Amino acid sequence: MGIPFDLHTHCTLSFDGKSSAYDMVRRAAELGIKHYALTDHVDLGEFADPDFDLEATVNGAREIIPPLREEYADRVDLLYGVELGQATQDSGTAERLLRENDYDFVIGSLHNIKKHKDFYFLNYEGMNIGKLLKKYFNELFDLASYCEYDVLGHITYPLRYIAGEYGADVDMSEYSDIIDDILTAVIIRGKGIEINTSGLRQKYGKMFPDKDILRRYRELGGEILTIGSDAHCADDLGKGIEDGIAAAKEAGFDKIAVFKHREPMFIRI
Ligand SMILES: [Zn+2]
Ligand SMILES: [Zn+2]
Repeated sequence: MGIPFDLHTHCTLSFDGKSSAYDMVRRAAELGIKHYALTDHVDLGEFADPDFDLEATVNGAREIIPPLREEYADRVDLLYGVELGQATQDSGTAERLLRENDYDFVIGSLHNIKKHKDFYFLNYEGMNIGKLLKKYFNELFDLASYCEYDVLGHITYPLRYIAGEYGADVDMSEYSDIIDDILTAVIIRGKGIEINTSGLRQKYGKMFPDKDILRRYRELGGEILTIGSDAHCADDLGKGIEDGIAAAKEAGFDKIAVFKHREPMFIRI
């Protein structure tokens, strides 16, 4: 069996994307990925890149989908997605974008917290990491509870830098209550989370979130789970999806969601 889905990927419409949308979809077809989503970045908030042309990106993503969908109609179910960053920091724009664009799938992400740059740019030396992570989880709770999205993107994203790059030891049990609150908010609202396999290709070496949080989500009644590689180039497409499926099974899931017109459809694993 090929790779059944990849619901989190970026092309050159994202500032950090390396392959064109054409190359990404061609590669998805080569790999036999049936349900494939392009989810380019739309990052909001005061630290959004000043050079970022929001309307051009949003319009570009909208325009690129129909011709690609037609060209690959017999092989790939191309899903029109977006990775919406920091909806908590500009809810007006977030709501407008979702009203104006007929997305299939919306990943709600947090790449930076209020008053801080992207976790990628922070200097962790001498920083109170515990306090920073508390703020991250609190803002993620707000996103989970009050913003519009289909799945929460890469829960525990800061660990990519804090544990992975910087090498700090983080005791996640300190955050179990707020993580439970986040997962409960997701479940109550009928929304989902994703397994983001990009961490497997990075120094961090684990998925976002890891198996403990995944298991907890299932225990609390979580049912909607998507899996994405977060590939930023065609070469990374589909990477780790099989590990993600194995982790989902281990956590007690027997189906994975793919989204069309913002509605989940389930695929047995
Ligand atoms: Zn992201
Ligand atoms: Zn992403």
